[in-house]
Amino acid sequence: MSNDILDVPEALTTLSPDTLAVRAGIERSRFGEHSEALYLTSSFVFENAAQAAARFGDKEEGNVYSRFTNPTVTTLQTRLAALEGGEDCIATSSGMAAILSLAVALLKAGDHIVASSGLFGSTVQLFANQLSKFAIDTTFVPASDTAAYRAAVRPNTKLFFVETPSNPLTEIVDIAAVAAIAHEAGAVLAVDNCFCSPALQRPLELGADVVVHSATKYLDGQGRVLGGAVVGPKSITGEVFRFLRNAGPTLSPFNAWVILKGLETLRLRLEAQSDTALKLARWLETQPEVERVYYPGLPSHPQHELAMRQQRRGGAVVSFEVKGGREAAWRVVDATRIVSITGNLGDTKTTITHPASTTHGRITPEARAAAGISEGLLRVAAGLEAVEDLQADLARGLQA
Ligand SMILES: *Cc1c(COP(=O)(O)O)cnc(C)c1O
Repeated sequence: MSNDILDVPEALTTLSPDTLAVRAGIERSRFGEHSEALYLTSSFVFENAAQAAARFGDKEEGNVYSRFTNPTVTTLQTRLAALEGGEDCIATSSGMAAILSLAVALLKAGDHIVASSGLFGSTVQLFANQLSKFAIDTTFVPASDTAAYRAAVRPNTKLFFVETPSNPLTEIVDIAAVAAIAHEAGAVLAVDNCFCSPALQRPLELGADVVVHSATKYLDGQGRVLGGAVVGPKSITGEVFRFLRNAGPTLSPFNAWVILKGLETLRLRLEAQSDTALKLARWLETQPEVERVYYPGLPSHPQHELAMRQQRRGGAVVSFEVKGGREAAWRVVDATRIVSITGNLGDTKTTITHPASTTHGRITPEARAAAGISEGLLRVAAGLEAVEDLQADLARGLQA
């Protein structure tokens, strides 16, 4: 019991996201704790045999076993669903576990996926090498070519899966247009909203049916834990839940608690990180050693207008091509003293990656070229350091 307005379910759809980000989903225990409680327990006890039977038989709501019910995880699910504007959310152990769980929930042998190119590498591998073993085929289409999505539709197409902005070239998928094509085909559109998070982009409002997250990135935002989530209508999450209950790609309560604390500062972080990324992008455009800058917040981005319609800001990720190929790119990486050399992103600490030799290093040079990943390409994911320090850190290698 409490004075909490959030005890009224309608509050989840009427209060501002800023309020929901710090308050949605809290259920106080009998101790009246102020901060979200962390329930580290594998199982739950019952009052008596009848209650045990009712809980197991889904006749009574309540916790049973943390593979599929835990109050800390439930708080995160309620909060994330509210932030995305979705009916329901199922949290998972990682972003990939979310994508796998969604695929298993929606698809069966003989079904077909239309996916945007430039998806996260493991998503490409999962679709192309694992789901294919169960007779689920995927057609990859250029992320920003709306007509190509329609051309790829087959009678058995059940799922459209896109990521926007794409990684690392920040191509923008027109979510509303692709949603219309998916629905015409009787399929579901899933958006991996990892790069923007609900602080900058709400795909469900634009017509997408379901959103997946790697909570490992901006939702935690501080590089501490792995996590994932599927957000959408109960008609989809119900099936995801049944898979999770049976298969166990479950989020740990501890990780859920860490991500809950991350959500409280999500908008503040992403706005500050987007501001820094925009300043870096503008500065990089003026550098003679830089061939091209990829950032949706720049007017020079070919889809700038679309990006600014569907995203509140450009996001934290800036990519750029330096003149002089791999040698020049590695010089920039190796000259950094502040920026972290890592394949990861979504942290308060700025990171730099040379995609051609790391994240995209295992595909053939031809496939890399087709994907637009040149030897001079670098990806920076802006953190929360002072932009002057980051600029000086990158300038050292550029001007060497
Ligand atoms: C990291 C990432 C994933 C995978 O998430 P994990 O939590 O590492 O499993 C999926 N999609 C995108 C866009 C990512 O950046």
